[in-house]
Amino acid sequence: MTAEGPAERCWAIVPAAGRGERFGTATAPSARKQYSELAGSSVIEHALRPLLAEGRLERVVVALAADDDHWAHIEQRLARRQPEFAHRLLRCVGGENRQASVLAGLEALAGMASPDDWILVHDAARPCLGAADLCRLLDALPGTHGALLAVPVSDTLKRMGAGTLATVDRAGLWRALTPQAFRFAALRTALLEARRAGRNVTDEAQAMELAGVVPTLVTGSTDNIKITHVSDLALAERSLREGARRMRIGQGMDVHAFTTGDHVMLGGVRIAHSRGILAHSDGDVIIHALCDALLGALGEGDIGRHFPDTDPRWRGADSRLFLREVAAMMRRAGLRLVNADITVAAQAPRLAAHVPAMLERLAADLATLPSRLCIKATTTERLGFIGREEGLAATAVVLLEADADADADANA
Ligand code: MG
Repeated sequence: MTAEGPAERCWAIVPAAGRGERFGTATAPSARKQYSELAGSSVIEHALRPLLAEGRLERVVVALAADDDHWAHIEQRLARRQPEFAHRLLRCVGGENRQASVLAGLEALAGMASPDDWILVHDAARPCLGAADLCRLLDALPGTHGALLAVPVSDTLKRMGAGTLATVDRAGLWRALTPQAFRFAALRTALLEARRAGRNVTDEAQAMELAGVVPTLVTGSTDNIKITHVSDLALAERSLREGARRMRIGQGMDVHAFTTGDHVMLGGVRIAHSRGILAHSDGDVIIHALCDALLGALGEGDIGRHFPDTDPRWRGADSRLFLREVAAMMRRAGLRLVNADITVAAQAPRLAAHVPAMLERLAADLATLPSRLCIKATTTERLGFIGREEGLAATAVVLLEADADADADANA
């Protein structure tokens, strides 16, 4: 778990058992809208990717039609392209409508999730969910009875009756998007109650509203469209391709000298050593290099600008605080980590055994998967200050990608 967002665990359900009647006349499973080809992939793969890449989500359950013979192909392709996602994906057989499929997804998670855990439900036909929107939703959850992404209505609305036309006041009107997040037990109870009352709810928030709950609206991006008609695919493709074009790269380096002491902090892990680190903070060169790389990619200068060593607040500080703050800056900028590559140069101590723990901690602080990070350790063959064991150093390179609307947000 990370410093931000809910303390409870989070899971996701993607109902994908629908036939998409408005989408076309094709009835073959492979022709359903969630399987339509989109930007070198399929609609559902794009819908799943931000959920699978979000480190704060435990598992993602896809609820499929019983006669679905196309999912296996999609799952294989996902596993081939992004093997780190494979074990995060579960599937179950969905039902005749959305609420039945979400209930089936909840049953599939029943042995793993706790009653207070958060369940995010996301449409299989929303391929343009941005990482920044997903983060904003997760960050908003604490203290709410549930929340959903939504967009204020900007068009003038008309209601047509028999021979009448009236303008509807749009004040207070929002379009509900997904994901929508509610606590496991509350959502399950609300959906069962709606079914018992014969109500076919069109989203999870409606079931919660019927149960007397007031969900929180979190402003989302208008790019997060739902594919309904074939013509929507071109719009989604443009938005996805624009996002993929906006990449940012950053590099960072840090050096600290040894002093007397009995341990060093590296990658958030305390490692016993015959020397300590001379620094204002805990002197974690891996985290400092990583923060500088991330800040560089954001165009935000260096770690000294944000956490000056003249500030008494940072005396002896746990560097993971810096990393979490920088990760939050990255999310606010609508950027997500593609990968980070780190090299530590130290003659001593030996680091290999500590790397898995470092990866786990850094990934938690960045709300990403450990597989997106690499830490390599090298000596300098006893050359220079590192070889003489006077100090140690680390370098980091990061690649970030932008959500499609990140620039628009920045310019707004
Ligand atoms: Mg430093």
